[in-house]
Amino acid sequence: MARLELSNVSKSYGAFDAITDVSLAIEDGEFAVFVGPSGCGKSTLLRLIAGLDPISDGAIRIGADDVTRRPAGTRSVAMVFQSYALYPHMSVYDNIAFPLQMERRSKGDIRQQVEKAAGTVQLSTRLKDKPSKLSGGQRQRVAIARAIVRKPKIFLMDEPLSNLDAALRIEMRTELTQLHKELGATMVYVTHDQLEAMTMADRIVVLNGGRVEQVGRPMDLYHNPVNRFVAGFIGSPPMNMLRGKVKAIESEYYSFEAPGIGTIVIDGLAKRLKIGEEVVLGIRPEFLAPHPAGSEPLVKIGAVPRSVERLGAQTIVHSAIEGQNFTCVFAGDQVVEPGRELNVYCDAANIHVFDAAGITVSR
Ligand code: ATP
Repeated sequence: MARLELSNVSKSYGAFDAITDVSLAIEDGEFAVFVGPSGCGKSTLLRLIAGLDPISDGAIRIGADDVTRRPAGTRSVAMVFQSYALYPHMSVYDNIAFPLQMERRSKGDIRQQVEKAAGTVQLSTRLKDKPSKLSGGQRQRVAIARAIVRKPKIFLMDEPLSNLDAALRIEMRTELTQLHKELGATMVYVTHDQLEAMTMADRIVVLNGGRVEQVGRPMDLYHNPVNRFVAGFIGSPPMNMLRGKVKAIESEYYSFEAPGIGTIVIDGLAKRLKIGEEVVLGIRPEFLAPHPAGSEPLVKIGAVPRSVERLGAQTIVHSAIEGQNFTCVFAGDQVVEPGRELNVYCDAANIHVFDAAGITVSR
């Protein structure tokens, strides 16, 4: 296994910059997830690492080797695709064995490797079947076993669970993280699903418009997003974003005027805003409560619920403040009446403040 290092990597298609100046290191044995909205360049970056597309600028190192100009087959990476890419006319055994047969390995060696990999992905009893007899999840496991037998330095996975139904995706998430532990492998995994990223990654790389917005452990991104984009992308339902203005600056705190809410006082923020400056106040739905609790300074927000989802373990309340969606996620089953004004409470320490450029005002 090996460390992967990207230095100032860029990729253009004609005049279009798909990837711009990406530098990052993925450590030996790490499970890294590239996440971002559709078209942000996740798959392109993975293909550049695999060598399936030539890079326009920069360098890629795998372990001690500079692989920037090396063709795909010689980089010691194995890629798993959303579409599985299995040979339909070949058995599960032959599909898994294929890369070893290409290397002209001995029959005995091939059998040993295939049986071991099939055991790892729990397909030992299906080796004689054709892919058409398998479920989507089992097909993807064949593709993973085929990657395992190659003993790559790095596994690259491009939305491998996207074609599976919701229940199977959740099951396969756990299987893949377990597999990562067993193999101790360096893995780079692409998804547009932030929940998948949060549950699987050691570290997440958030991409947007071909650039890296933030790299960090899932909980670092959740609690300390560097900007409004990351704050809004990580977390579900997404963070509420309310417009406001700096009303007063005191030695210990700022007070903000937020239309539809009133004055909000927040202390401990870096003193870099000016009076009158526009800001966005970010509040995660799950940090709002229907009753005041605790000893911290609380912010009270009045909102008129438009719809209520009672899920048993949670109650999700959808409302709007000054035309902006405002969602609350309350623990447990709460009786909330649509149309009747509701006061909700939030600890001021849990409010994120973004400046006019969308950059987080640090604490
Ligand atoms: P998705 O989640 O929808 O798969 P993505 O983040 O993986 O999106 P990419 O497939 O990497 O996005 O594409 C990034 C951008 O580069 C897109 O705007 C896409 O249209 C463009 N692009 C990708 N491949 C090519 C190509 N061969 N020629 C021209 N443009 C391309």
